[in-house]
Amino acid sequence: MAHTIKTHRTAIEARPGLLNWYETTTTLYNQVVAFYVSLYEAHPGLLNLNQQEALRQAERLTHRTRTNPSPLWPLEEAISADIPAMLRRAAINAARGAFQSFHSHYQRWQKNKTNFEAKGKRFHHRPPVPPRTFNFNLPFYQGMFKERTVTSIMVRLYSGTSWQWVKLRLTGEPLPAEWNPGSPIIVRRRGRLRLHTPLEKQFPTPPKALAQVAADPQLRVCSVDLNLGDAVAVCTILQADGTEVVTRFIRGGKNLHARRRRLLGKVARKRRQSGILTEGEADNIKLWQKIRAIDEYEAHRVSQRIVEFAQAHRATILVFEHLGNLKPQKGRYSQRSNEKRAYWLKGKIVKYARYKAWEQGILTSRVNPRNTSRDCSDCGASPVARYAAGEAPLAYRPGGPLYLCPACLKRGNADHNAALNIGFRFFQRAFRQLSESLHAKASGVPVVNPIALQQIAVWQDRRSGSALPSFSLA
Ligand SMILES: [Zn+2]
Repeated sequence: MAHTIKTHRTAIEARPGLLNWYETTTTLYNQVVAFYVSLYEAHPGLLNLNQQEALRQAERLTHRTRTNPSPLWPLEEAISADIPAMLRRAAINAARGAFQSFHSHYQRWQKNKTNFEAKGKRFHHRPPVPPRTFNFNLPFYQGMFKERTVTSIMVRLYSGTSWQWVKLRLTGEPLPAEWNPGSPIIVRRRGRLRLHTPLEKQFPTPPKALAQVAADPQLRVCSVDLNLGDAVAVCTILQADGTEVVTRFIRGGKNLHARRRRLLGKVARKRRQSGILTEGEADNIKLWQKIRAIDEYEAHRVSQRIVEFAQAHRATILVFEHLGNLKPQKGRYSQRSNEKRAYWLKGKIVKYARYKAWEQGILTSRVNPRNTSRDCSDCGASPVARYAAGEAPLAYRPGGPLYLCPACLKRGNADHNAALNIGFRFFQRAFRQLSESLHAKASGVPVVNPIALQQIAVWQDRRSGSALPSFSLA
């Protein structure tokens, strides 16, 4: 089984006093964490035990019970507040993580020091010190929360004198059904409280890409060409027998560029007025937040559409090209920054599409980006002519929306041509690897379907340039 995790976030409605309670509880929790970090400092041997056993020992050293009447380091003497068992356990685990991180830093420092001194050099670096203050978010383990619904949850919070059940009103999406929720935490951001819930999902591990190609002669992939123009993504569903099933253009690039450029123009004007204003400056924080928000929104929107499209057509692999380097542009500040952000956006779309696809059991693969726009997807001739409507198709003009192949006279949308090339490249590579591993009789060669075996030859013909425009297989 494969598994995947994500975080569900929902806003908590503000109400009088809630922030105070939250602060009091978090402060108390972090005091308990600090107490247990000092316990770990006194007993570093606890690190050698596994988490479960260390937890048991830490409780034996600090927690007074009937069967453990005189612990060595009683927690109740250090902190007078009543500490619920689940909060104590959460704190012990958090303290272990914090101490472990310090401990490995310390060991690295010691090793460096010994190495230096062995060579007769003086070692100037100061040793790392154990952390003294903490800022952990309190996880609500079992027993610290109850009665969770779509619109509310009861959590235990500390008022300063006692623990109370507090009802939080939630405004947001319900927890998705097919995911297992973990312990929620409350996070404070810009003065507002949010409830974050880790989610986990198990699903059957999808077979490797090569195994899929070997097994299924009608395997479908969704190849995606990402662009800086209006069609942000051009997606083509391609079958292993060479048929193109359907293509979709995901648009909205022009609109996004215009909005982003307006905002970047504002930043530029502010910079001119006040000398240098950078991303962190207070005046511009709102503007940069807006710019980041529209980019983030767009990356989620486009990646979501890509995955939905692949799913709707039963594609089991997404294929992207590796993103090349950003070529610096000339022009005004807003223009250059806009280009840069559009380029970053491509990376984000790939990243988000990859995890969204994985959640659905869809793999992601990347191919060599070389000449995906210059080659003809039909006959392999290169370069094709790229031009705009009304222009003569004479030469390869980067960014031209249309293409015409001088060899086979095929014409069409240039981004569609690139998307096809990306998909073809995936199949060419997969069938080449398949044929190589069959020749080498290497171990781990997947069982090859007889029809897929015939496809090897066809795809290799394509690679040598003498490609067939369509694949005729019985
Ligand atoms: Zn051609």
